[in-house]
Amino acid sequence: MQVDLSAIAANFHHLRSLVGSDTEVAAVVKSDAYGLGMNLVVPVLLEAGCRTFFVANLREAMQIRTRLTSSVRINILAGIEDNELDVYRSYRLAPVCGRLQDAILAARKLPELVLSLETGFSRFGLTFAEVRAFKHRVRREPDLAVSHLACADDPIDTTNRMQRDRFVAMCQIVNPRRRSLAASAAVWLGQNYHFNLVRAGSALFGLNNAGVEPNPLRPVVQLIARLAEVRAVHCGEVVGYAASFRATRSMRIGIVALGYAQGLPWSAGNVIAALIGAYKAPVVGRVAMEYVAVDLSDVPAKLCTEGQPVEFIGPSLPIETMARAAHTIPQELLIRLGANCRRHYTQPCRDAPGFWQPQARSP
Ligand SMILES: *Cc1c(COP(=O)(O)O)cnc(C)c1O
Repeated sequence: MQVDLSAIAANFHHLRSLVGSDTEVAAVVKSDAYGLGMNLVVPVLLEAGCRTFFVANLREAMQIRTRLTSSVRINILAGIEDNELDVYRSYRLAPVCGRLQDAILAARKLPELVLSLETGFSRFGLTFAEVRAFKHRVRREPDLAVSHLACADDPIDTTNRMQRDRFVAMCQIVNPRRRSLAASAAVWLGQNYHFNLVRAGSALFGLNNAGVEPNPLRPVVQLIARLAEVRAVHCGEVVGYAASFRATRSMRIGIVALGYAQGLPWSAGNVIAALIGAYKAPVVGRVAMEYVAVDLSDVPAKLCTEGQPVEFIGPSLPIETMARAAHTIPQELLIRLGANCRRHYTQPCRDAPGFWQPQARSP
């Protein structure tokens, strides 16, 4: 997997220009920056001007805390346990408090108070009753209140309005200094949804969850595997596990070194296509653990050689297309592929298309 760090920076700048200077763009880098590697992604975002990060848990927060100055905020989506109070305090970490006891603990003991409000997602967050209980028991006003939309990728879904109305009403009770409702897709729901801070994950990593046309985001990843074997298959012969593909004529088949161990979904068998140069090579048969077969019938013989790069995600093969065909979502694909493939990085701020070179066969 090739990761274009400059595209991440460009997407951050694009989001900033969309929301304007009254709204901060925070980066959500949970799950190791959606599988792309926090250690390299976070410095790029920092350099691009990002000053607030959301991570999944304490372990991820500690991975980046020492590399960031204390003025950079790190919010931990998992909240806080009683026995973690000291480490949150000494490392200036803010739990996103979605349970009443977390909120009370943080309000009494921590410098930064971030509340999560439950407006219709049914996952963490204080309910109306808990917001009132909090107000009753704690004098302090939160620094930030957040909530999360369930249907932001569908601008006409009325759930968005309902959640927004609830969010505004709950904020009126606790009076937070800043408010945040939008993740990536909600940036395109318009200014009414931006409030003081948007929390962007997917969009930074090039995923167009809102389905905006033309896609305003720069693609961040490219997935390229190596052709490991080329063979002739006769009419009537089968390919791969369960004989799910049978040749209807004499065919040239390529075995590509990419399988579900590298994050290619098993459900992509027989339904996606790769590219060799500009030529389409449909996947045939099931995806195996380390390999998948492609049909090379339409690929010129001179490109059908071992070691040849085979592209599965790239400029003309969007990750969204693979996700749809394999009955999953781009976020899941991204983190599975990112976490399991070897990753190469282009350096930020350097125009270097074609960075990827087919590599010598590794042992
Ligand atoms: C994951 C997450 C986000 C980021 O969502 P994207 O749609 O990927 O931008 C924002 N807020 C919360 C609470 C999240 O869990």
